[in-house]
Amino acid sequence: MSEKIFIFDSTLRDGEQTPGARLNREEKLELARQLARLGVDIIEAGFPISSPGELKAVQEIARQVKGPVICALARAVKGDIDAAWEAIKEAERPRLHVFLGASDIHMKYKLRKDPELLLEQAVEAVKYARRFADDVEYSPEDATRAREEYLCRVIEGAIKAGATVINIPDTVGYAVPEEFGALIRRLREKVPGAEKVIFSVHCHNDLGLAVANSLAAIENGARQVECNINGIGERAGNAALEEIVVALRIRQDHYPYHTDINFGEIYRTSRLVSKLTGIRIPVNKAVVGINAFAHSSGIHQDGVLKDKRTYEIIDADLIGGKAAQMFLTARSGRHAVKNQLQQLGYTLTEEQLESLYHRFVELADKKKEIFPEDLEALVFDHIFAAEPVYRLDYLQTVSGSRSIPSAVIRLKCADDSIIQEVAVGSGPIDAAYNAINKIVGLNIKLENYQLNAVTKGRDALGEVAVKISYQNKTILGRGTSTDIVEASVKAYLDGVNKLLKINGYNNYNNG
Ligand SMILES: [Zn+2]
Repeated sequence: MSEKIFIFDSTLRDGEQTPGARLNREEKLELARQLARLGVDIIEAGFPISSPGELKAVQEIARQVKGPVICALARAVKGDIDAAWEAIKEAERPRLHVFLGASDIHMKYKLRKDPELLLEQAVEAVKYARRFADDVEYSPEDATRAREEYLCRVIEGAIKAGATVINIPDTVGYAVPEEFGALIRRLREKVPGAEKVIFSVHCHNDLGLAVANSLAAIENGARQVECNINGIGERAGNAALEEIVVALRIRQDHYPYHTDINFGEIYRTSRLVSKLTGIRIPVNKAVVGINAFAHSSGIHQDGVLKDKRTYEIIDADLIGGKAAQMFLTARSGRHAVKNQLQQLGYTLTEEQLESLYHRFVELADKKKEIFPEDLEALVFDHIFAAEPVYRLDYLQTVSGSRSIPSAVIRLKCADDSIIQEVAVGSGPIDAAYNAINKIVGLNIKLENYQLNAVTKGRDALGEVAVKISYQNKTILGRGTSTDIVEASVKAYLDGVNKLLKINGYNNYNNG
């Protein structure tokens, strides 16, 4: 059998560092479960020292998600390693991932320490990590801009100290494929002990070369790639997981390797990540964009109708795209809904299922075809939504070319009391948001507003994602409805409820 490439997913760590992509604990757990179904080999679940909440979330994943190795990130200092180990020690197969800057720029300006002292620190950190875990990965940060002689010595030291995986990060996305592949080859040939460890790469996409660099590294002996779903991550993002694994699969003739990815889960995982993070998948995104399988030119359409292979190299079925196009209707019973949910990877309690089914029937009355995305939207709105402090009870807006946009909002509080407010604004949505701010009594700012049609057609569900901020916290709120004003209000209220939770406003302000 061909050699295996280990897929290391960092969507929950590097991916979550995408501005505005922060996930709560339940969302992280949901995503980790889906990554396990996708068949990734390693899940980098987070950076536990960054906050107590992060540590708890990683711990929950380590306890509950079986199958993949669960990895936690730590700087090369004891406190970080202690926190990381605390978070993952209950995992079936825990891995500690230690990193420290290795380029002159990082050592001189960020770490402000002598390179020799830093080399010692790296070695000590790996030894310390090995006291806890049998599986320790070491990353010399910014490796592609480091002096190669120094890089070799750091890697040699880390291997001697007991590292099992050496990861070469192109932290700033500076490398180009030929050069990066050659670097991996030289390191494997030159560094004493290199044959004892797995070489890994971690490529960023600042020059749009993250996937190409990762593939070049594989051809030169890297056997683990670090990558993220939809290519999300710091700045321009990381190498896209789906692009790497599908490229390896489609071009088996060129790449004699395999992965253990369940290809049929790719589409679903991609949509889940987009939904949870609020980061839209570009329509022309390779492999998972909605246009990836659409043909618009007449010549292409004609060709595809005669034989798909004329203009299509990837079958939508391979990544689970076709299954995702099945829909339910008002005539679908509870069983069909439950079935579809299970296929999408959601296991709900009987009670949750019952409440969701009612929402489904309501929606099916307004909209003929209920696509998996619609069903997922319902799950997010009604099952995973934060236990709200305020619920929408009544909404009325006025707008038009000759009227002043205004809104009447009535919210139901957790203690069942009702508060009503009226406000004007630059449009009906702005007016509604102003009315909510009056009720909540906080000066919440709207940072970003996005409206998407969840599916095709005039009766499509509108999905609104808003980013709101209060003091120094930014939160993502989501809402769906066939009425876009209502979807907008739901999204805002969802964000407000999360914000109140985080700020500990159990005794909400009655304005
Ligand atoms: Zn990174």
